[in-house]
Amino acid sequence: MSKNSAELEDFIRGIPKTETHLHVEGALPYELLVEMDGARFPADPFFRKSDYRYPGFVDFETLLIDHAVCWFDSADRYHLACKRMFEKMVSLNIKYVETSFHLHMIEFIGVDGPEIISAIKSAAPEGLEVRVIGGMVRNGYTEVMRPILDNLHQWENLDGIDLHGQEWLALEDWTPPIWKRCRDAGKIVKCHAGEFGGPDKIYEALDQLGSRRIQHGVRSVEDKALVKRLADEGAVLDVCPLSNEKLQVFPTLEDHSLRELVDAGVTCTINTDDPLCFANDILDEYRALAERLGFSKAELGQFAKNGFEHSQLDASLKREYISQIDAALAQ
Ligand SMILES: [Zn+2]
Repeated sequence: MSKNSAELEDFIRGIPKTETHLHVEGALPYELLVEMDGARFPADPFFRKSDYRYPGFVDFETLLIDHAVCWFDSADRYHLACKRMFEKMVSLNIKYVETSFHLHMIEFIGVDGPEIISAIKSAAPEGLEVRVIGGMVRNGYTEVMRPILDNLHQWENLDGIDLHGQEWLALEDWTPPIWKRCRDAGKIVKCHAGEFGGPDKIYEALDQLGSRRIQHGVRSVEDKALVKRLADEGAVLDVCPLSNEKLQVFPTLEDHSLRELVDAGVTCTINTDDPLCFANDILDEYRALAERLGFSKAELGQFAKNGFEHSQLDASLKREYISQIDAALAQ
C-alpha cells in the first residue's frame, strides 16, 4: 500500500461515521447463515463477488428475501443479527445508525412490531446510537397490515418510516396520511425515490409525503430544476454508491451522479444499503469515492459530517463528532 493510500485508509477508518440508509434484513451478517448451515450457504457465494452485478431490482429483491427469511423468524433472531452487525459497526467507528426494518415481516413471522424494534435496539453496544425506521412497500396496505400501518405514529419506540421496494409502483392513497401522522408525531419520514424511478418519484416524495430525507435520489440529476430545489430546500439524500453500481443504476461507479449532486450543493450522506447482498462495508464506500470518483478527504469528511448534522443525536454529541472530523482533516 502506498503512503497516500495508507493515509487515506487511516483517515476513513479513524473519523466517526454514520449509516442512515441501512436495511436490517439486508444487513444480516452473511457469516451467520454460513454458521447456521454451511452446506446450504457457501462461504463465498456468487452474488458477494466484487464483480457481480444484479440483472435488475427484482432479481436483487428475490435474492435478499430468500436469504433473509432463512434467518429472521423471531425477535431473538433480530437481536442476534443486530448484535453481530452493530459490533462490526463499532469496530469501523460508526457512531450513529438509522436502520430500517421491513414492517411486512410482522405479517410473515407473526411477531409484534414493537417487540422486534426492542430486540434491535437492545442489541446496541455502548458508543453506538441506534434509531429504527419502519419500512413498507408501495402496495403493502393489506388487510393484515392496514391497522398496523395506520397506527405507526403511536409506536413509541419507532423513530421513523420509509417507503421501499419496487419504486415503479404507484403511490397509493393510503400512504400520504400515514406520512403526515408520523411527521406530526415528530418521526423521521423517509422515502426511497430516484433509484429505479425518475425525478417524478422524488417530486412525489417531496410534495405528497413531505419527506426531506430521500433514500438514493441519485437520478434527480435528470432534472436540473429538481437538483436546485433539493439544494435550496436542504433535503438530504442518503446515497449508497456501491449498491447503485451493483444494481446497475449507473453503468459503473465512475458514471455515478454524486459528483454532480455535491457540486450543485445537495446534502448527501454515504451508506451501505444491503451489505448482505453487496458484501460492502462503510470503509469500502468511502474508499471507492476517493479512489474511483476523486473525492478529497475534505469531501469525505463532509459526507460524514452531514450524517451527524442530520442525525437525532444530542447537540453536544453532534458537535463532538464533527470536531473530531475537523481535527482529522487538520492533521
Ligand atoms: Zn435502500
